[in-house]
Amino acid sequence: MRYEGAVYRPPSEAGSLILQVTLGCSHNRCTFCVSYIDKKFRERNIEEIFEDIEYSSSHVKGVQRVFLADGNAMVMDTAKLQAILDKLYEAFPRLERVGIYATPQDLLHKEKEELVQLREAGLNIVYMGVETGNEELLAWIRKGATRAEVSEAGRRAREAGLVLSVTVINGLGGLEKMVEHAYDTATLLNEIGPDYLGLLTLMVCQGTPLARQVEKNLFQVPGPMEMLREIEMMIEPLELSNCVFRCNHASNYLPLKGTLPQDKQKLLETLRSVHRSGDTRALRPEFLRGL
Ligand code: SF4
Repeated sequence: MRYEGAVYRPPSEAGSLILQVTLGCSHNRCTFCVSYIDKKFRERNIEEIFEDIEYSSSHVKGVQRVFLADGNAMVMDTAKLQAILDKLYEAFPRLERVGIYATPQDLLHKEKEELVQLREAGLNIVYMGVETGNEELLAWIRKGATRAEVSEAGRRAREAGLVLSVTVINGLGGLEKMVEHAYDTATLLNEIGPDYLGLLTLMVCQGTPLARQVEKNLFQVPGPMEMLREIEMMIEPLELSNCVFRCNHASNYLPLKGTLPQDKQKLLETLRSVHRSGDTRALRPEFLRGL
């Protein structure tokens, strides 16, 4: 299997075979994102991809999960994705699940029938970065989609029968827009109704436009306790059903997990008790945080 540059995958795809079908991110403009900053986007050609699948099927036994990388493999033409899925299921007889990253734009560029076609070909789970539900912040981070478009993209994936996993970023509104970010994100999530919700905590990475804004004092990163208060404000208005909530990424100060709505009160109580105590010893130290 050939890999080019750094390869990222969602934490839940840790045991999956990673297949790079695209390189980089076709959007590559989000102001906080460092993942593909130095990687020029391109699609790999189908012959190369098929060679890698054939190589892996003769060297790796019992593959049950595959993740299609890089940053937004869903940008590919539907017929090409279908051919890749067909080849994967033919090459790996025990394959049960294929996952992919998608931007909201990628999902909106496909007709609902195309998403159904991909689901029927064996695509199971789509990971989409929502980041925030606040309209101004979406424009400010250059997400490339409005709130209505993010909402439509998420709902379209779910209506096509795909499992939808979304991520949002705690702290993305800075100190100034904490309340708006928390509330608007919660209401957007309520509209979308994801199956999985992952909460990352903002890390300002060198070389990004966001880092330059921090240097110029145009953006104030919330402190750990303020981050927790923001999570509390975000969880309070959530009205999700049967959604797996995870906030146990290396970037998070306080590991939290549960299923919504049943664990909502428990999560809120945990946050409130740490917040009330002001005891930072319960939190992941700064030097241990990472992406
Ligand atoms: S769409 Fe995702 S991978 Fe691409 S720049 Fe934005 S955050 Fe990064």
